[in-house]
Amino acid sequence: MSRYHARLAAAQATMQAKGVDALCVSVGSDLPYLTGYAAMASERLTMLVVPAEADPVLVIPQLEAPRVRTDHDLAIRAWMEWEDPIAIVADLLGGASAVAVGDQTWSTFTLALQTASSAAVWVSAGAIMRDLRIRKSSDEVDDLREAARAADRVIDELGHVRFSGRSERDVGREIAERLLAAGHDTVDFTIVAAGPHGASPHHELSDRMIQHGEAVVVDIGGHRNGYASDTTRMFIVGDAPVGFDDAYTVLRAAQAAACEFVAPGVTASAVDAVARSIIEDAGYGDLFIHRLGHGIGMDTHEDPYLVAGNDTVLEAGMAFSVEPGIYVPDAWGMRIEDIVAVTEDGMESLNETPRTYRIVT
Ligand code: ZN
Ligand code: ZN
Ligand code: ZN
Repeated sequence: MSRYHARLAAAQATMQAKGVDALCVSVGSDLPYLTGYAAMASERLTMLVVPAEADPVLVIPQLEAPRVRTDHDLAIRAWMEWEDPIAIVADLLGGASAVAVGDQTWSTFTLALQTASSAAVWVSAGAIMRDLRIRKSSDEVDDLREAARAADRVIDELGHVRFSGRSERDVGREIAERLLAAGHDTVDFTIVAAGPHGASPHHELSDRMIQHGEAVVVDIGGHRNGYASDTTRMFIVGDAPVGFDDAYTVLRAAQAAACEFVAPGVTASAVDAVARSIIEDAGYGDLFIHRLGHGIGMDTHEDPYLVAGNDTVLEAGMAFSVEPGIYVPDAWGMRIEDIVAVTEDGMESLNETPRTYRIVT
């Protein structure tokens, strides 16, 4: 059985357990997870219809059908420009009384389908797909590790790159080229946040010049073979700003303690609490303004989220970031981010570069 047959069978088993008659997925990662094919996000509908107890059918624009890989026997219903794909999907749904629709499906399609199949109850596919995707197979962890190592290579290379006198945008462009050269297929983000910009966790590249004496948050990620990388390291141009070293010692301790705490059986919220309590005890609690981490896989952000209130119990195969930060408004910011995978008896860090900051020119 191919990986896609196994995943489709697992989806159907979950649907049967939840009383869902049909699953409809369109753009986003659910479709490539189930079939190996990613839909183009466009006004032309692509939708996989998976009945709970019959073979799935991929409804796809005729002009995109040649892109579907043919190494598994997925039934295709290609539609011509003058046909109505909503009617085709509604026809496939037949008398389904409970239909789950993918979380990222455009509302223009969801609303039209709800009108066309108005007798059905429409629910979110998230509850079905989340259970499948949250535990990675060893093949998937291998893919995440390869992506992480490719990002690590770029972090290592940046230790020898000049930062001062260049704009964040210029450094970001160089990082993007290096991510591709290191084996990524796509670049998703290159955060280069120098000096006061570092206090904004998702800062976008600017034309501001990086200066001597500034701390630079470098948070980078892309996709390799369908799986995401995401790592953050700190770079100091010359000398660290006032107060930085004391906070950085705390941040490193918090990040290391949270990573070490990761194991099957502990909750996602408990891992967040380990890092947060160390940062709070040192007096920086108000400056750690986001959750500890997010799951990662085909999407950069997916379940499980490491945040207070999430009592998801960690299991082997789950993968997520551990990324505490301390942000001082108008001065500087700092974050350390590793992707870790839960193993049978603990965790594996997929990123391996030193967590010390690098001093650059
Ligand atoms: Zn983020
Ligand atoms: Zn990141
Ligand atoms: Zn992240």
